Amino acid sequence: MNQTIQKIESRLYPCPFCGSLKSCCVVDNPYCNNPEKVIIEVWIQCMKCGARSATQSQTINPEYFDTVIVKLAQRVANLWDRRAIYNGENNEPIKRGNQ
Ligand SMILES: [Zn+2]
Repeated sequence: MNQTIQKIESRLYPCPFCGSLKSCCVVDNPYCNNPEKVIIEVWIQCMKCGARSATQSQTINPEYFDTVIVKLAQRVANLWDRRAIYNGENNEPIKRGNQ
């Protein structure tokens, strides 16, 4: 992760569920079979209880990977800070981990 992402992570509000300050920006590339264009998904996830923000995804050219990642990271950081938490079935917040 680049320094801008680390800066975004360090400014995140505490987790709305457990109050932990250890949240990180997760970048996933779920469809990596096309080398020319990739779809990435970005969200903020609490390292302690696994709660996560709403997800932002975008198709990008790998050449502009870093620029787009930073843009999406800023967007999901805003969602996290506004408490826009991903809702799964039954409108329950998604919490993972906690093992
Ligand atoms: Zn948490």
